[in-house]
Order: sequence, then C-alpha cells, then structure tokens
Amino acid sequence: MTHPQPGPEVIIIGGGLAGLSTALRLCEAGRSVMVLEAEPEVGGRARTLQVGGEPVDRGFQSLFTAYPATARMLSDIGIGKRDLVAFDRGAVVHDGQRWSRMGTSPRGTLGFEWFGAGDVARLARLGAEVAGAPVQALLTGDERDEEMGEYLVRMGFSAGAIEGFFRPLFGVITADRQLRSDAGYFRFLMKMLLRGRAVIPVGGHGMISAWAAARVEQLGGEVRCGARVDEIVTDAHDRGRAVGVSVHGGEVIRGRSVVVATEAPAARALLADIDRQSSRALDLQPCGVTTLVYSLGASFHTGRTIVLNAAPVLNAAPVLNAAPAAGGGGDEPGAARIDLVCQESNLLRPGMGDGARLLATSVHGDGPAPDVDALAAEMERVAGEWNPGYPWARLARLDDVIVHPWAQFAVPPGVRADLPDAATGLENVFLAGDVTMHPSVEGAVASGERAAKVVGGYLARQPSPGG
Ligand SMILES: Cc1cc2nc3c(=O)[nH]c(=O)nc-3n(C[C@H](O)[C@H](O)[C@H](O)COP(=O)(O)OP(=O)(O)OC[C@H]3O[C@@H](n4cnc5c(N)ncnc54)[C@H](O)[C@@H]3O)c2cc1C
Repeated sequence: MTHPQPGPEVIIIGGGLAGLSTALRLCEAGRSVMVLEAEPEVGGRARTLQVGGEPVDRGFQSLFTAYPATARMLSDIGIGKRDLVAFDRGAVVHDGQRWSRMGTSPRGTLGFEWFGAGDVARLARLGAEVAGAPVQALLTGDERDEEMGEYLVRMGFSAGAIEGFFRPLFGVITADRQLRSDAGYFRFLMKMLLRGRAVIPVGGHGMISAWAAARVEQLGGEVRCGARVDEIVTDAHDRGRAVGVSVHGGEVIRGRSVVVATEAPAARALLADIDRQSSRALDLQPCGVTTLVYSLGASFHTGRTIVLNAAPVLNAAPVLNAAPAAGGGGDEPGAARIDLVCQESNLLRPGMGDGARLLATSVHGDGPAPDVDALAAEMERVAGEWNPGYPWARLARLDDVIVHPWAQFAVPPGVRADLPDAATGLENVFLAGDVTMHPSVEGAVASGERAAKVVGGYLARQPSPGG
C-alpha cells in the first residue's frame, strides 16, 4: 500500500535517543517529522522494562549530568534535577579479598589503598588538564595516537591505580576491560566524571525517550512504534535520491528526506545497497554486555553506589606497567565474569529492602556472550566472596537476562575520526546515532542535534514542494 499523502519532510528510522533527539530539534524548527521504531516502544538500548511493576533498565547504565547535549535535551523535554537520582560520588571495589572505596576527585581518592605515592597528584594533574579543555577539543583530540591504557602509563599512574581504579571503572564505562579506547575519549569521559554527577532518571533511562517522544508529538511530529523499515526507497531517475521508506508488511511511506538513526548493524544493512561507503564505515567492533536482573529477599548492599570487580583480569592489555596476577575470573572470550553490581532499587526505590533489585553486569567484548548458568554461578560465587554472610542462593531470584551483543562499539585510536558524520553519499539521506560520534548517551543525543542541523540546512535549500 502506498501512503496517500506527500509524506513528512523527514522520516527518521529508529526511535532510540539519537532518533528522538533528531526529531525533537527538527520539530522545534517547525519541520514535519515521522519517527519509525521497529520495537513496540521507543528507547532502543536505553529502554526500561517493568519488572514486578518497578522500572528496570535493559542493562545497567547511568548518565553524567555534565553531558552537554543530553543536559539540553533533558531540560527541553521537562526532565529536571528532581527527576534525576544521583549516585554517591565514586564507587566501591572488591578485589576478591578486600573492599576499598574510591572517590572520583583527587581529594576523594586520598586514602584509597590502590593508589601509590604520587597517584593523587597525577589524578589532580589529569583533572586540571581536562577541566581546562573544551569538550569538543577533547573529543577531537589526538585520538589517532594513543590508547587509554598507554596514556595512563605515560602519565605515570601506578599499576595499583590502573588495576584498582581505572580498569574496573573505565572497563565498564567503555565496555572494554583492555583499556584500548582512544585517550581523547577517555579524557572526555574523565571530564564528565569530574564535572558533574552520575545519575539515573527516577523512572529509568526509558523515561528520557518516553518524554522526548511525547514532546515530539506535542510539537506535531509522529512517532510510530512496531514499524520496522526494510528498505530506503530510492528513485533511479532522480539521481538516486531517496523518495521514502518501505516498512515491514509492505507499506511505503514517502518523505522528502530520511535519517538513519539505528545501531550500526541495522544502519549498515539499510545503507548497503544505496551508499556502500557509509555502510562500510560502520563496520565497527561490537562490545557486548550481558546483564542479570535479580530480585532479592533482603538488601545485598547499602548506599547509592556501584560495586566494581577489581579481581585481576587475565590477558589484560600488555601496555600496563605490571603484569596482572593470574586467577580470579578469566578474560577469555565468553568467560563468565561479573564486572559490576548495582542494587538499582537503592536509588530508584529507596527503602525497598525486601524485593530489592540488583543488576549484575558482565562485559564480554566481541566474543560470544557467556553462558547464563555459568554467569549466574559466578554471581553467586562473588556474592559469597563480597558478602560472606549473605544467603544468596536462598534470597536471590534471577528474573531476567538481557544480552546486548551491541551495547557499545569499540573506539580504539582512529576509529572515531573515521566514523561517517551526518551526511551520506545520497543528498537527502542522513545519519544519526552514537555510531556517528561515540558510544554513549551523549554521543547519541549530540548526533541527533547535529543531524537535525544538517537536515534543516538541506531542506532550507530545497524549493518548497509544489512551489
Ligand atoms: C548495557 C548498556 C550499558 C550502557 N551504559 C551506558 C552508560 O552508562 N552511559 C552512557 O552514556 N551510555 C551507555 N550505554 C550506551 C547508550 O545506551 C547508547 O550509546 C545509546 O542509547 C545509543 O542510542 P542510539 O539512539 O544511537 O541507538 P539505539 O538505542 O540502538 O537506537 C536505535 C533504534 O533503532 C531501532 N531500529 C533498528 N533497526 C530499525 C529498523 N530497520 N527500522 C526501525 N527501527 C529500527 C532500534 O530498535 C532502536 O530502538 C550503554 C548501553 C548498553 C546497552
């Protein structure tokens, strides 16, 4: 069936944060927009499920209040400070034998036992360096040259600081325990960490996309869920320009321009036949994450913090100045290792001691996801190590397992610089998505802002239809 109307000015494929950020900015600029989302709900990787009537993110994540584009979007869709629950600064780490609490500011790390002589001063130097640098300068810095692990060694950080602080924390933030992300991206993340708070929206991350979609509709845009786009339809007689999209089930929707705002594999498939170069440029290395969602009969840990696993990582990057000790959780592809635990209900539903909800994250790179039974057994083992008196087997019930083979993409040196931007080889097809910037909430939202500007510029240059 063919859509009888001339169609919207912009069709956006994908209702994740990037697609909705694009839609929001275009609607604000008075453009007519239709968002097509394949899943029954918007949000993509930052969607929230309801488990037992409580919000549970589809994989543990938090955002930094210092993310500039995200802060603008939150404010413009009506999510205020009161709707964001902040983590306690820093984190708690356990190395299999002992607990340590770390802060994220140099002062907060005083007394952190993994830090050697001089590490606090080095952290202060790093903090001063990133504080003085504009965000954009950090993101477009010398990312072709140096990995994060190499950079930390060059800065003189001790092996203890790297193994007890940077690897457990940034190994999870970047979904890369090898610390191979480019140093520019690391410095950007460090600035975000030092400048603001890590928060979760009180209704889970899905709240952002739900509110963004509602705002888009208030502004006259349309958001359709359950609409998977199979193909971008082009006209060979009109310089190969896109004339619309074909939705699973046969409907063809016409539009003046198309924005692809999906995760990398879907974007590659949609562009494969119409713009090989952009499609090829999105051949990125996935970083997979598996999350176990538990209901607990009693609280496992108190406080609004995350617990990070600082047990040695086997086969860790060789750049570090001390070889990690063997044992304590492997790092072979598919190995079952718990990297982070967060009793998310401490933040979202404080006081929920009985029926507390705990998310356990395992980062597994581009290897296969670990076997769920092995991961659950590993969670039980670390629970016994971290909290020996806690009757895990009796009190913990596994409610859900969320596997994201494509949680993030790896950003070793050079990768970000080679990503396609908002333009493609077709003059009226555009790109948004974290895949065009960096693998984070901010990368997605900022990419949407950028795409909206480029699409707006394109539409402004076109003669009005019928004119
Ligand atoms: C477990 C996990 C933890 C994370 N932790 C953090 C964190 O702590 N901090 C942080 O900043 N970031 C984190 N991230 C990354 C962040 O969530 C993502 O970078 C961001 O949500 C990506 O948004 P996006 O809109 O670019 O892509 P997506 O969210 O993937 O959205 C793409 C959308 O396109 C839809 N789609 C795909 N194909 C089609 C099609 N053919 N037709 C129609 N629709 C289609 C998909 O269903 C999806 O909704 C994490 C991600 C995961 C998975």
